[in-house]
Amino acid sequence: MKLPVGRFAPSPTGDLHFGSLVAAVASFLHAKSRGGRWLVRVENIDPPREVAGSADRILMGLQRFGLRSDEPVLFQESRRTKHRKLVNHLVDRGQAYWCGCSRKALPPSGVYPGTCRDGLPRGKKARAVRLRVSDDPVVFQDRIQGEVRETLSETTGDFVIWRADDLPAYQLAVVADDAFQGVTEVVRGFDLVGSTCRQVHVANCLGFDVPDYAHHPVVVTPERQKLSKQLGSDPIVNAPRARTLEAALRFLGQPCPPDLELDEMWEWARANWDLQKVPRTGQAEATYPQPGRG
Ligand code: GLU
Repeated sequence: MKLPVGRFAPSPTGDLHFGSLVAAVASFLHAKSRGGRWLVRVENIDPPREVAGSADRILMGLQRFGLRSDEPVLFQESRRTKHRKLVNHLVDRGQAYWCGCSRKALPPSGVYPGTCRDGLPRGKKARAVRLRVSDDPVVFQDRIQGEVRETLSETTGDFVIWRADDLPAYQLAVVADDAFQGVTEVVRGFDLVGSTCRQVHVANCLGFDVPDYAHHPVVVTPERQKLSKQLGSDPIVNAPRARTLEAALRFLGQPCPPDLELDEMWEWARANWDLQKVPRTGQAEATYPQPGRG
């Protein structure tokens, strides 16, 4: 039997906060508790959104909590040529096509109406590449949330896999690199569940194995705002490690015995991790040590 390979794939758009630590801990424990490997990939394919120095700070933050990648960290930018080749391959096979529509040209529903599906209309210049979708629903079994199903022709239409600013789209790059790294399971926040059917579709079009997916609840503030790097949520670089890890485990439905040291807590968590105990909701508040707040 193949051993599991999990991963944590942060975008360097800000510092590590409690919500991203939860995703790192969940993916790490799910792989490690079953003797698997865990990889870190920095998803730096979007220079306009990148925050200088944040990749280093994220990696240092992970290390501080004892989260170490089993392989050298992959920087996604280094895979750009390969991403482009995959897109060209899909275009050559007619599964994807060049589109000349700007985002402003989309209807309010956001569903692409297929304007350039049968060739660029006269006067339009090729901008982005879109992947064709069909009317058949895409279905996958989320290991936490249960069955997820989406008919992409109704929700997104043909979607962008190569962007107008000449960069790979997230939906393409994430699938290409999970396959490249041999990732067998993707454990991440519920905010990405809505992208997953598109990713399953990309994998199917490229003939890649589809990994298992599990989406845990995202951490929200009392005002129901998702913690995010863009929101400037408190970085956890100085947070007390054991108490913060304890809070992450509690949030994930795995409360540990009181007063453990960091190493003992990891040991306990690896031995006791149970995906079935992760709450089956999209979002939840969390109590955790918050540096900088009284
Ligand atoms: N890079 C994405 C983010 O930081 C996560 C991608 C993924 O886990 O699939 O939001």
